[in-house]
Amino acid sequence: MTLVKRLYDLQQIDLDIQREQEALDEISRQLGESEALLKAKAEFLAEQEHLAEMEKQQRDVEWEIEDLRTSIAQVNAKLYSGANKNPKELVSLEKEVEIFKAKLREKEDSLLDLMAEIETIQDKIKLDGERLKKLEMEWKQEQRALTQKQAKVENRLSDLSQKRQSVASEITKQTLELYEGIRLRKGQAVVKVAQGRCHGCHLTLSMNEWQRARAGDLAQCSSCGRILYLD
Ligand SMILES: [Zn+2]
Repeated sequence: MTLVKRLYDLQQIDLDIQREQEALDEISRQLGESEALLKAKAEFLAEQEHLAEMEKQQRDVEWEIEDLRTSIAQVNAKLYSGANKNPKELVSLEKEVEIFKAKLREKEDSLLDLMAEIETIQDKIKLDGERLKKLEMEWKQEQRALTQKQAKVENRLSDLSQKRQSVASEITKQTLELYEGIRLRKGQAVVKVAQGRCHGCHLTLSMNEWQRARAGDLAQCSSCGRILYLD
């Protein structure tokens, strides 16, 4: 195997490593909390807090209603016991009952409103809870799949790294440095030659460059400096 073929193989491995590394970076970005899920969770929590608040209001109104009914019963008892014969006091007690009854009607109306509102919230919580459960399940599945994919990519990267070491061990340090230097500047260090042209810059090679490349010598394109490879 010629030196240039080895460099070309090394470049293929480096390209593979680069691709796998990019895939790994993408997986790392996707792993972890999902913003959509966090938002759905926060909204669900806020809905539950709202419901608890409304239920507390309902209990308060129910107590107020209970108190009003007790008050009405007490005044009615005074009115109808027959013990009180003073007409003025009886009229005053009747007025008191009327005031309590008006308050009671008001409270009963607001209780009905509250109960309707609570029912709407409960329906929404039920739907959103199911939606959240589904989101969480999908997220867990996705995370599991990503973790499996990550392990596979890491395995491939480890294999590629070993393969690279083995190929690089047969290339001199000086040539490796040349390769790395061109790679850093140009992205691709070794380019194929097709129809007498360098595939990196597309310029026609001199006869000398072409002959050296064909012989498998370490020939660089005089125009772009890339290493020329003829397979
Ligand atoms: Zn060139």
